[in-house]
Amino acid sequence: MATIVFFCIPAHGHTNPTLNVVRELTARGHRVVYYSYDDFREKIEDAGAEFVSCNGNDAQLRLTREESVKIGSDLALSTRVLVDTTLSLDGPVCREMERFRPDCIVADSMAVWGKAVAKKLGIPYVCSTTTFAFNRESAKIMPHSLKEMLSMLTSMGRVNAQIKRLQEAGYPVKNVLELIGSDESVPTVVYTSPMFQPCAETFPAHFAFVGPSIRPARSEVAKTARKLVYISMGTVNNDMLPLYRDCIQAVEGTGWQVILSVGDQVDVRKLGNLPENVSVHPSVDQIAVLEQADAFLTHCGMNSASEGLYFGVPLVMLPQTSEQGGVAARTEQLGAGLRLKKTTPGAIRAGLEAVMNDPSYRENAGRIGASFRSAGGAKAAADCIERCFAAAK
Ligand code: UDP
Repeated sequence: MATIVFFCIPAHGHTNPTLNVVRELTARGHRVVYYSYDDFREKIEDAGAEFVSCNGNDAQLRLTREESVKIGSDLALSTRVLVDTTLSLDGPVCREMERFRPDCIVADSMAVWGKAVAKKLGIPYVCSTTTFAFNRESAKIMPHSLKEMLSMLTSMGRVNAQIKRLQEAGYPVKNVLELIGSDESVPTVVYTSPMFQPCAETFPAHFAFVGPSIRPARSEVAKTARKLVYISMGTVNNDMLPLYRDCIQAVEGTGWQVILSVGDQVDVRKLGNLPENVSVHPSVDQIAVLEQADAFLTHCGMNSASEGLYFGVPLVMLPQTSEQGGVAARTEQLGAGLRLKKTTPGAIRAGLEAVMNDPSYRENAGRIGASFRSAGGAKAAADCIERCFAAAK
């Protein structure tokens, strides 16, 4: 029996895919200790791990609302938060790791404190990544905008000052790329299939492309028309009233059944009287809807896109970040969806009609879905982790 320690950031999208891996490892007789956040305690314990709370040490949980909005696009701020969290966890985590003597640390690619402590104490380490894996080849599919590049360059001085703080605390980190970039020398679990991962053949054999982890549906959705269209911009940046208005105008009078999930930041009353074929909800059982859907208008979050493709649903795509842009570009390359260039009602309707009228979109989405189902799942992830600590013995 081995002891395996997981580290994750406070995000469901990063935590959920690891839960079946925890289940598989504990079923194989291993002890799993999981460092996460109080909101996630229940699901982590349900999966069979011992839970350790990082709430008291996480710098991101103490950000102002303004800083929280900026963090994704401000490299200096995000590095400061990562370094603050790492240094704040340094004392307790290093002491506990010395006590547990784990055989292996599995850390989310963004939970850099897990990677940092593994490096500092020389513990075998597996990276868990819920986005595409990055290297020189795959990065070409999600080029950063000029604005992002400029803001990165101008913040380098402040970023390097943060890296120096880590070095002074004994962490062998040379630069920010080493901290946040993916490292091809590290065994890595990637929650997509070799088919969907761009340039999968350019990664070393210790990269395990295990496919997404799709939870079962919790309910049943009645299909009331020949075509069912589902629209959602995810759970984070979904405060998009004008877009929802355009979507409603786009589908009015089509006879399609349209389910629109708008999140909890939008006042549904502001959408006015809805056409009889449209229903609007703050949140839906997305898996149950996708099991029946004929088209999915999505922001291309990795989870949403994977869930749609898993059920062979063609995507109409409106990515909002460079990561989502990469998912959209790959989906388009494989012929399973199309990216909207405009968000006028006419363009939205034309996009939805195109993916529903041309059967090749559904066929290609179905092929990607099949590749997800045959990618090996939690068993393949657990094998990758076991190989990592067996190799270190
Ligand atoms: N989701 C859901 N119901 C909704 C909207 C979203 O269950 O009404 C789930 C969806 O199934 C997915 C997650 O929320 O698993 C969204 O994750 P994604 O990575 O797509 O986007 P994010 O919300 O992180 O931008």
